[in-house]
Amino acid sequence: MTKIIKLNVIPPPSAKKKTIFTIDEKDVLIKGVELESHICGNCGFVLAENIMVYNYRDVMLQCPNCKSYNGDPKSNSF
Ligand SMILES: [Zn+2]
Repeated sequence: MTKIIKLNVIPPPSAKKKTIFTIDEKDVLIKGVELESHICGNCGFVLAENIMVYNYRDVMLQCPNCKSYNGDPKSNSF
């Protein structure tokens, strides 16, 4: 069963240190084969389906629904 992980809403990046995944369409940004899905910490929109976000250590996910920036809740690198 897929585990749902709510990401932390983080401030917009002040410098271009990290890769930002974002798209204009309201669809899942990343799909994979792992048993975890990651949802927006603000609105609950599914940002990354079935991935381990730890594989994407230096990225943040911008929610296409509410435009919040989301980072890994377990990592200080976000
Ligand atoms: Zn959102």
